[in-house]
Amino acid sequence: MRIFDPHVHMTSRTTDDYEAMHAAGVRALVEPAFWLGQPRTNVGSFLDYFDGLIGWERFRAAQFGIAHHCAIALNPKEANDPRCVDVLEHLPRYLVKDGVVAVGEVGYDSMTPEEDDAFARQLELAVVHDLPVLVHTPHRDKLAGTLRTLDVVRESGIPPHRVLVDHLNETTVRAVADSGCWMGFSIYPDTKMDEARMVALLAEHGAERVLVNSAADWGRSDPLKTRSTGLAMLEAGFDESAVDTVLWRNPVEFYGQSGRLLLDPAADGTTAAAGPVDAATGNSVLRGERP
Ligand SMILES: [Zn+2]
Repeated sequence: MRIFDPHVHMTSRTTDDYEAMHAAGVRALVEPAFWLGQPRTNVGSFLDYFDGLIGWERFRAAQFGIAHHCAIALNPKEANDPRCVDVLEHLPRYLVKDGVVAVGEVGYDSMTPEEDDAFARQLELAVVHDLPVLVHTPHRDKLAGTLRTLDVVRESGIPPHRVLVDHLNETTVRAVADSGCWMGFSIYPDTKMDEARMVALLAEHGAERVLVNSAADWGRSDPLKTRSTGLAMLEAGFDESAVDTVLWRNPVEFYGQSGRLLLDPAADGTTAAAGPVDAATGNSVLRGERP
């Protein structure tokens, strides 16, 4: 089973996790920028973190045979803190870097006017930089938050196929499916989506535009939830190709729109399996491949 975890916060995880993920089949991942639990008090704190995502963490993952990519943004929660908002001025210079494959995670936490503003500005940055966007949906008031998210995406003019709306569940999947955006599901140990619910949802909605992630971070979470979902799919009668679509081909296709994915051909199976994914520019997902 080859696995691309499209949303996992490795900065919060140990080398044991990297080893276990590699043993489980994880060969690539995307680490979105988010909050650290402890509030940041100034813009410099973000810049050091972003530098860590594009530099140190990428190097660390490579030691364990995992291709690390990241998404850069001001997260929804800290968009409410006036000490943090000026980081938006610094995002453009990060969005041109190798290894940055999306703007994210953006979206709503408490649906405040400040969050509205940061969300809209960052969707605009994604359009300007021709990057896909990873959108977080709030854990409270999820349906209202998701519907409002889809309205803002529509108004921004960004094509829906360049948007991944994450942390979905049974109540929000239909609206996102109808919008044309990609659908992300975070599988957690205790709460929210689990493997059984995910498999039931795949049986009902199919695998098209569906991504599964661990969203593992500094809280109670499990970076092997991608694999356990793949195993649950096989047990439920899905074939290996369906598992590969959800756990590898879909994330490769979505983030491949950046033209910046660096995938090890050995992990990828064949070049053809991933295929050229950006029809507009002819970029291959293997562009920039290490020698
Ligand atoms: Zn996250």
